[in-house]
Amino acid sequence: NAEYKAYLVGGGVRDILLGREPKDFDVVTDAKPEQIRELFRNCRLIGRRFRLAHVRFGDDIIEVSTFRAPHHISDQGEGHVEEGRIIRDNVYGDIDDDVWRRDFTINALFYNIADFSIVDYVGGVKDLEAGQLRLIGDPVQRYVEDPVRMLRAIRFASKLGLRIHPEAEHPISEYAGLLEEIPAARLFEEMLKLFMGGCALQTFESLRHYNLFKYLFPQTDQLLDTHEENYPHTFIMHALKNTDQRLNEGNSVTPGFLLAALLWEPMRVHADEHIAHGLSEMEAVQLAGDTVISRQISTTSMPRRFTHMARDIWSLQVRLKRIKKRSIRVLMHPKFRAAYDFLLLRAQAGEPLDELVDYWTEEQIKEPLA
Ligand code: ATP
Ligand code: MG
Repeated sequence: NAEYKAYLVGGGVRDILLGREPKDFDVVTDAKPEQIRELFRNCRLIGRRFRLAHVRFGDDIIEVSTFRAPHHISDQGEGHVEEGRIIRDNVYGDIDDDVWRRDFTINALFYNIADFSIVDYVGGVKDLEAGQLRLIGDPVQRYVEDPVRMLRAIRFASKLGLRIHPEAEHPISEYAGLLEEIPAARLFEEMLKLFMGGCALQTFESLRHYNLFKYLFPQTDQLLDTHEENYPHTFIMHALKNTDQRLNEGNSVTPGFLLAALLWEPMRVHADEHIAHGLSEMEAVQLAGDTVISRQISTTSMPRRFTHMARDIWSLQVRLKRIKKRSIRVLMHPKFRAAYDFLLLRAQAGEPLDELVDYWTEEQIKEPLA
C-alpha cells in the first residue's frame, strides 16, 4: 500500500518449497528501517551488525530487513570489514544486490507477493530439488566473512536432510578455528538454534563429524574424545533424543536442562577429583558446577536462569540419592521435576539407578505435585 517492494525470503520460502511448515517468516523490502517504523505502529528497530525492524503481528514477530548490498560493493559508509570479517553490514541496495550477501542458495529465494512468483538468481530451486546445500560465491571467502556459516551449514543440512555440497564442505576442516573468534553471545544464540530445533541428535552427530562441536562445548568434546567407555556419548545421545521428542510432541524444553546434560560429564570428572581430595559429594558437585559453568560461558555466554537451573539439577542428583530423608523438601523443590527427568535419562543411559527411579516415581504418586 505504501508503494514499497516487499518479498518473503529465507527459511519461510525454503521450508514451504520443501513441503515443511515454516518456523517463521522473514520479509525483505526496499523501505529503510526508519520508513518501516513510520508505517507500522508495532515496530521496533534492533541490531547493530544488521539493522532490522521487528514488526509485531498478533503473537508473531516478523523480521523485516532492508535490501543490503554485499560489503565489498562499497568500502565506505555503513559497511565494515576487518580481516575479511563482516563487522557491520548496513549498505543498502536493491534485490539484485541483496541476493549475494545471503549464505546458501536455498536461503536466497524471494517470494514476490505481487505476482506470486519466486525470484531465483542463484539456482536455489534447483539445489532444493537436488537436495543440496550450496554456498553463494566463493566458500572460503564466505566462511571467512562469517564463520558462523559453517554452523549454519550443519544445521540446515541436518534439519532438512540436505547434502552439503563438496565445495562448501571441504573448507570446513581448515577454517573451523575461526569460530573461536565469534562472540560468546552469538555462539549461544546459534547453539540454541542447533539444539532446540527438533533434530538435535542428528545435528550433534554432524557437528562431531565435522569437528565443530568443540567450538561450542570444548570441555565436553575433550571427554568424548578421551573416554574409553562410551558413557558420555550414550548419555548425550539419550538427552538429545529426549529433547527432540519433547519438541516434536509440542512440549517445551528449557536450555537449562540441555546445558545440564551437555556438561554433565565434565562436571562429574571435576567432582570426582574433589571427592578424592576429601570434599563431601554435595560440596564437590557445587564446586565442580561452578568451574564447568564459568568455563562454558567464556565460549557460549548464557543467561543466569539457565546456568542456575543446570546447577540445581546437578545438586538435586546428590539429594535424590538420600532416600527416605526429608523427601518432601526435595519433592517441593522447584526444579525437582527437571532433576527427576535427568535421573531417568541417566538410568536410560545405563547407570544402575533403577531402584532410585522407582522410589522417586512412587514418592510423586504419594505426594502429587500441583
Ligand atoms: P530458520 O528456519 O532457522 O529461521 P532462516 O534461513 O530463515 O532459517 P535466519 O537466521 O532466520 O535463517 O535468516 C534469514 C535469512 O537471512 C537466511 O535465510 C539468509 O538468507 C540470511 N542470513 C541469515 N544469517 C546469515 C548469515 N550469517 N550470512 C548470510 N546470510 C544470512
Ligand atoms: Mg528465519
